[in-house]
Amino acid sequence: MSSTTRVYCCCNSGHYFSGASCPYDGWSSPAWRELTAAIAYRDKEGKKLAIAELSMLRVSRATLSRTSIVSFGRDASVFEALAPATYVVMGETKPPLKLGPGFK
Ligand SMILES: [Zn+2]
Repeated sequence: MSSTTRVYCCCNSGHYFSGASCPYDGWSSPAWRELTAAIAYRDKEGKKLAIAELSMLRVSRATLSRTSIVSFGRDASVFEALAPATYVVMGETKPPLKLGPGFK
């Protein structure tokens, strides 16, 4: 069974994206460009992506705090961006902008 792993950045509006900038609002940052360079390096070496591995490549803590890595069990489920309307955190349903800095 094949699987695909993607690295997502969370923008200031709570969107997740895997390209150069957020397709919803255009947000990008030097930190994200730093991370995409590290990802390209890992891909070139054919190694699995993990937050701990990116940390070893000197990706900053600030950048890692915006990073999520998702492995998809089927390639047909892979997406480039996601704009979640709500999250359930500790049993409460809230929009991302009503949550703390961990969600934007
Ligand atoms: Zn965005």
